Amino acid sequence: NKQVILKNYVRGFPKESDMEMRTTSLKLKLPEGSCGAILVKNLYLSCDPYMRSRMSKLEGHYTESFTPGSPIGGFGVSEVLDSSHSNFKKGDLLWGLTGWEEHSIITAPETLFKIEHTDVPLSYYTGILGMPGLTAYSGFFEICSPKKGDNVFISAASGAVGQLVGQFAKLAGCYVVGSAGTKEKVDLLKQKFGFDEGFNYKDEQDLEAVLKRYFPDGIDIYFENVGGKMLDAVLLNMRLHSRIAVCGMISQYNLEQSEGVQNLFCLITKRIRMEGFLVFDYYHLYPKFLQMILPLIKEGKIVYVEDIAEGLENGPSALIGLFSGRNVGKQVVAVTRG
Ligand code: NDP
Repeated sequence: NKQVILKNYVRGFPKESDMEMRTTSLKLKLPEGSCGAILVKNLYLSCDPYMRSRMSKLEGHYTESFTPGSPIGGFGVSEVLDSSHSNFKKGDLLWGLTGWEEHSIITAPETLFKIEHTDVPLSYYTGILGMPGLTAYSGFFEICSPKKGDNVFISAASGAVGQLVGQFAKLAGCYVVGSAGTKEKVDLLKQKFGFDEGFNYKDEQDLEAVLKRYFPDGIDIYFENVGGKMLDAVLLNMRLHSRIAVCGMISQYNLEQSEGVQNLFCLITKRIRMEGFLVFDYYHLYPKFLQMILPLIKEGKIVYVEDIAEGLENGPSALIGLFSGRNVGKQVVAVTRG
């Protein structure tokens, strides 16, 4: 059983050498008398920014640290090979938390969703039909209270979450601008995802001025994925009674000390609602979300770009690539193609 092992807790930017491959033996059958566990073959693994925090020694965090010397884990798509749990049987396809290894024994199957719709790519259950999709849906529709004509700005806009938020905002009749880190990604925003405008934040010296150019009347909704300097510049461009969904702050995850945000006082003077959220609180919306999104995918009204690394051994470099923006779209690792 090939596995990706965390060697030691990570400080600063993660490196490929923080992880190593290990092969162990595993019987493809659950031990006699096991109860409530399932044995799965992992087909696709999801690379998600929050996994960086699990590589550190955490205390009082919403998620738990990985254990050095053991396989890392995350969201994935898996097939059941053996089950001692009444809700799952051999052959079922699932998405949810699993290990970064070829096969896993999952002892907490309440973190799994059964896959009922297989007429879409299975890898989508790591992205548009999985945790990032539900993040975009709950963050935009539950936190941002969008109205037709709202001015919407999204950072890390071409990624797993951002590309969907932008398309939801267009479907809701909003004016939508996104930022991303390369020209190729900015082209995707405008040509593939239907954003009205996009810009490469790495080309801009003065973020406040570039936002003013795209939003002369100010921003109604900011979908925050990056934090730091971008958040500071956005605050100055927000309108009265505007909303900020604080989804993530990837620019801060590898810093020993966070960069200071200078303009937080704008929250008060402009009566901005800035609300943090965690997708885990919105799992009950998953059936409603599927009902909305599956027809949109099948009718081609929503598109989704994936960046698929082939093979578990390419997993570590795909994962750390999130923090230099190497991924174009949702980063997935194909362990065994389903
Ligand atoms: P992406 O697919 O967008 O991948 C990460 C992207 O972040 C990179 O491609 C890169 O794009 C950008 N990035 C990396 N470093 C920096 C930096 N220093 N400054 C600015 N941008 C940077 O990831 P996701 O869509 O999966 O996640 C987006 C955000 O959503 C993250 O902050 C994540 O933590 C958060 N999240 C929160 C959830 C919640 O429940 N609240 C659930 C899921 C995700 P570029 O080339 O454009 O710089």
